[in-house]
Amino acid sequence: MPMKKIILLAIFLLASCAHQQAAPYVIPQYVKARSVETLYNKAIFCSSVYGAGTHPFVFINPGKEPNAWVDTDNKVHLTEGLFRFDDDTIAFVIAHEIAHAKLKHVRNRNAVSLATTGVFMVAGVFIPGIGLLNHAVNPAVTNNYSKVQEYEADKLASETLASCFNIPVDKQVQILQSMQSGTIDAGGFWDQHPSWADRIENIKQTP
Ligand SMILES: [Zn+2]
Repeated sequence: MPMKKIILLAIFLLASCAHQQAAPYVIPQYVKARSVETLYNKAIFCSSVYGAGTHPFVFINPGKEPNAWVDTDNKVHLTEGLFRFDDDTIAFVIAHEIAHAKLKHVRNRNAVSLATTGVFMVAGVFIPGIGLLNHAVNPAVTNNYSKVQEYEADKLASETLASCFNIPVDKQVQILQSMQSGTIDAGGFWDQHPSWADRIENIKQTP
């Protein structure tokens, strides 16, 4: 197929994808009722990763599997499926994603992530109902950190939970164990990470 035709076909497919997903995603009430915004604000304040009042917001993604990622604009995305877990677990996941941003793991992969932006269009609504999420990068790509980066992010998340959420390491171990049992065969995001046993050993070494 000549290049011109391939490009036209790609544009057509992209346009039809965008059209199909035009219906706005409405965050379910049970998700809205959760204190995710408070947890997020607490975590970013504590990690002092963004300047005061300039931090991006947290977005909810319609995905039914537990998943989370931080995009190239340092926005944290949580799937609806993540809300099967309790607030402490969500706090850990948010702190973990913010840690990736703070440790500049995201910037290192800008080139890869930007290449996927616009292909994976997901409509989403910011938690209090303000603003629209107009694009999301492919989580499979954005979550493709090295194992070393995952351990670093877990360690920083662990410190944030201990110092700001008053959740000690032994409770954090329980959080990781609950994620392990709650995501059996979930695949995707969690497959990108080191094994649960290794992650637990890693945070146990947090001073
Ligand atoms: Zn991670």
